[in-house]
Amino acid sequence: MDYYGKRMSKLIEQLSALPGIGSKSAQRLAFHIIHMPEDRVKQLTEAIMDARENVRYCKECCTLTDQEICPICSNPARDKRTIMVVETTRDLAAYEKTGKYEGVYHVLHGAISPMLGVGPGDIRLKELIKRLEGDVSEVIIATNSSLEGETTAMYISKLIKPTGIKVSRIASGVPVGGDLEYIDEMTLLRALEGRVEL
Ligand code: ZN
Repeated sequence: MDYYGKRMSKLIEQLSALPGIGSKSAQRLAFHIIHMPEDRVKQLTEAIMDARENVRYCKECCTLTDQEICPICSNPARDKRTIMVVETTRDLAAYEKTGKYEGVYHVLHGAISPMLGVGPGDIRLKELIKRLEGDVSEVIIATNSSLEGETTAMYISKLIKPTGIKVSRIASGVPVGGDLEYIDEMTLLRALEGRVEL
């Protein structure tokens, strides 16, 4: 039954289609939005549209950015010879928060998962291999310790091994299946410092 009228129901439906938003949260958000001052709603919708239109992949590391080359890749102080491979831009942000990593990144935007039908061609792996033609001394694989993350790490290390470039994997200590972004900075630093060569 349509308790709220067509327009309200449509808003709830749109919100509940977002990840992590159940129907109760969607209703709460919808009521919050319609009680917001009109100019605040306008700012919110404009921010969504603006981000959607202008955020793109960095031409070097594939992270999300609104510039052609992201601020990390364009920073001359970063060590371009060390590339840390992560699954998402949120993982990159988690490592950046430690303030201790001086290399650059490569963001895969996913992980290989035969079960979900995600193959090597579905993540940004080609772009990584292309980067290895340049001057690279180490690739640190920092994918999650989930089944998919481990599968991806194995796949990448096998690809890189023949090139002679050093490949390492962040140390365990990162909880199994744990999203990197929820892990505290000390744990991340320990995992990075204790990385093992593959
Ligand atoms: Zn970049």
